[in-house]
Order: sequence, then structure tokens, then C-alpha cells
Amino acid sequence: MTTTDRGTHLDVEQTDGLLDMDPEAFRAAAHAVVDLMADYLASVERFAVFPSVEPGSIAPAFPTAAPEAPEPIAAILDDYRRLIEPNATHWQHPGFLAYFGTTASGPGILGEMLTAALGQNAMLWRTSPIATELEGVVVGWLRQAVGLPDSFDGLITDTASTSSLIALAGAREAASDDGARMRVYASVEAHSSIEKACMTLGLGRDALVRIQTNDRFEMRVDELREAIARDRKADLRPIAVVATVGTTSSTSVDSVKEAAAIAEAEGLWLHVDAAYAGAVAIAPELREPFHGWERADSVVINPHKWLFTPLDASLLLTRRMETLRAAFSLVPEYLRTLDRQAPVRDYNEYTPQLGRRFRALKLWIQLRWFGLEGLRRRIRHHLELAAAFAKWIDDDPDWERLAPVPFSTVCFRYRPAGSEGSEEALDDTNARIMDAVNRTGEVFLSHTRLAGRFTIRLAVGNLRTEARHVERAWEVLRAAAEEEAG
Ligand code: PLP
Repeated sequence: MTTTDRGTHLDVEQTDGLLDMDPEAFRAAAHAVVDLMADYLASVERFAVFPSVEPGSIAPAFPTAAPEAPEPIAAILDDYRRLIEPNATHWQHPGFLAYFGTTASGPGILGEMLTAALGQNAMLWRTSPIATELEGVVVGWLRQAVGLPDSFDGLITDTASTSSLIALAGAREAASDDGARMRVYASVEAHSSIEKACMTLGLGRDALVRIQTNDRFEMRVDELREAIARDRKADLRPIAVVATVGTTSSTSVDSVKEAAAIAEAEGLWLHVDAAYAGAVAIAPELREPFHGWERADSVVINPHKWLFTPLDASLLLTRRMETLRAAFSLVPEYLRTLDRQAPVRDYNEYTPQLGRRFRALKLWIQLRWFGLEGLRRRIRHHLELAAAFAKWIDDDPDWERLAPVPFSTVCFRYRPAGSEGSEEALDDTNARIMDAVNRTGEVFLSHTRLAGRFTIRLAVGNLRTEARHVERAWEVLRAAAEEEAG
């Protein structure tokens, strides 16, 4: 690599060198990339939230084989602008109100950049003392922030799916294994990751007993009790109860207090899935839905959902760290270090995988940049925006809310006053309304099914969403409904 002119590094061709990108060329390219990133964030609203593309229409724009010859970074970044950015679903767009938002905040992105540059592997203390020790620090900060006692320790994983898998592996480890088939209990509204965990752990899909919910989509504890008793009689081995605070469809809240009482009486592991809603607990006045979670064996909260951390970052807190270690520790000679003499923590002993990203860095940067007060302010704002939207739905006789709104997600449908349409016709109408709204590109919504009905969801959780975006969502929804009504 020739590096004669700092200003034109982006145009410099590579030679047939044997080393990485020249550091000065890297500097110039990195500045260009930062400009790209800042431009993207500053003008993300110029994109449709969901691009107007058909499945399979993007790949043909790319060569079918990797280039033999090196290519200049300027050409690659041009193609990034031309082929990558416009074909993304814009999770960073303030009109992204689908699923649960995952915002990559500015400080979080800076954390990702530094994480990549440091290139740490947080598998052993020795492979990254700082990643290991900062993980402990950040886990402690977040634990305190959500008001859980210091009997909870934990770790950072990639996703809630992995966190729940690890938790249920702990539950299996803690249960006495007499060969009886094991059973895990969660409501019919629990996330599919719980069922996947049972599959992955070899407990089998049948191991998950789905408990019915009440008309607020909360787990029925009477049915939970009965199911456990029935299974014990059938010589099955109950091992865990999963309570969800903020279910994926409606954000309903299982009673953690009652689930804890049952789990304690039955000697079962209690796992609380608060992947989305757990962030709310950083505001002390909003902790009511979490009452009892301090009695859980494990709790999962996703900073990559409502704490604005770039994907991925999931926080698994547990009072049973040693049980997780018993479930996953396997130390071959090549991973044995002399540090074993000293009390070090090697995080790979608590997880299915060995290599681990240094996720604590972006969390540390973010927590400092926002401050807990800054995060609380933003979460409270989202709750207000959702409450306002829910009120518009409630006040309009042509629209119907289909679930309570404990957090920032509103479930609803169009149901014109006096309409005689069948449930199927209403489902079709609402699917078309949602599709029309999404085709505007201004907002992006997703759906679920509640009590058998097609349900549109509006989930506020994007860091860049302002009142005007939620107002606009309401306008385009009503316009699409008018169009339907003809
Ligand atoms: N649990 C709940 C309640 C969720 O809503 C989700 C995803 O939306 C998950 C778990 C899975 O999260 P992840 O994508 O981090 O595995």
C-alpha cells in the first residue's frame, strides 16, 4: 500500500502486500465510514422504513463469486451506499414501530466501533482481563439500576434466546435427574425461544407445558398449579416455571409473585423473561409489574431492545451462577490457564459457546453517556407516546383496542362502528390496512393474533421516535381504513 497522500487514501490501490490495511489508509477510510454513518443517521427518514423490494430481487445485484483481485475501499463504500443502505429495513428510522424496537444509539455505535478495533475475545480472563472484569462491573450496574439485590450475579449474552437457554440448562442441572421426563411450564403467550430452549437442551418440545391465559393474556396460576400436580402424578419431573413480564404479542404481565410462590413450594427454578419490558424497571416508580422477580432464579432483560444498545446484548441475571457453571463448564488443557490458582472468572464456563464478544464496552459507554436518568426520561416518554396512541384508539368508535397496555405497545384493530362483517372479513381488512400503512414507507407496523383475531401492534421503543411520528402513524392508519371503507 502506498501512502503518499493522506487526503487521497481512499483512492489508493492495494499492492500485493501481506499485511492488513495500512493504518493511515485505515484512518482515512474510517473517517469516510464515520461520515457515512452520520449522514445515514441524520437523514434516515429519507428512506422508506421497509424498502420497496421483492424477495430475491437484491442478490442478483451482487457478483456470484468473490473478486480475485483486491478492490479499492472507495468502490466498496460506493456500493455500500448503492446496494446495502437502500435495501435495509430501517430499524433506525423513527417510524419503525414494529415488533420491539432495537435502536443502535450513537454512543452504542461508538462502542461497537471500539469493540471491533480492540478485537477482544472474552472467553477467559486471560484472553481479555478488561472484557472479563468490565462485564462484571456492567452487570452490577444494570442489576442495581433495575432494583435487583446483590444476590444476583450474571453475564451478558447475545440474545434473550441464549439467555433463556442458559437459564433452563441451569434448571435442568439443578433438578435431580432420576430418568423421569422433565417438564417446563410457561404460558401460551411465552416467547418461542422457551420452546426452542427445550428443543435444544434435548428435553423435547413436549417438555414445554403451555399454560392457558386469562382474558388479559396473563398466565393462569390455577392452571399452572394443576398442570404441575397432574404431571407429578404421571411421574413426570417438573423443573422450571417461566413467567413473562411483557409478552411478545400483547406485552401482558404474568404474576411473578404468584409464579414465585408456586416455584418455591414445588422446588422449581423460576425464570423471568423480561426481554423487552425489563428496561422499564430502571424507573423505580414503574416497578410494580416486576414485583416478586427478586425471588426468581434467573431473569433476562435485553439491552438491545429498550435500552437502545446495538444488537446484540442480552443481560442474564441469576442467583445461581454456580449452577450455570456446573451446566456448562468444560475446561480442556488448551484453555487451562495458570490463573486458575487465582479467583478469576472465565465467562465461557457459563455459556454454550467459547468465543465471546466484548459487549460490556458498548454498555459501559452508553450507560455513562445517557446516565440512568437519561434512559429513564426516554422510557417514560415512550410510555406517554403509547398511552396517547391508545387513547386515540379508545376514543374512536371505529377502532378497537385488543389488549391492555402495560408498557409501550398498543394492540388494536379497525372495526367500524355498526359493521356486520365476519371475523374473517375483519382479519382481511386489518391485514390490508397494515399492508397499506407499511407501503407508505413512513411507518412500519407488525401484527400478531390475539384471541384468534388479526391484531395490529404499534410498539414505541425507538430512540428517535417523536410524538409527530406516532401522530403520523395514526393519520396513515385512518387514511388506509377510509380507503378500505371505500
Ligand atoms: N422473550 C421475549 C418476551 C421477546 O419478546 C423476545 C423477542 O422479541 C425474545 C424473548 C427473544 O429475543 P432475542 O431476539 O434477543 O432472542
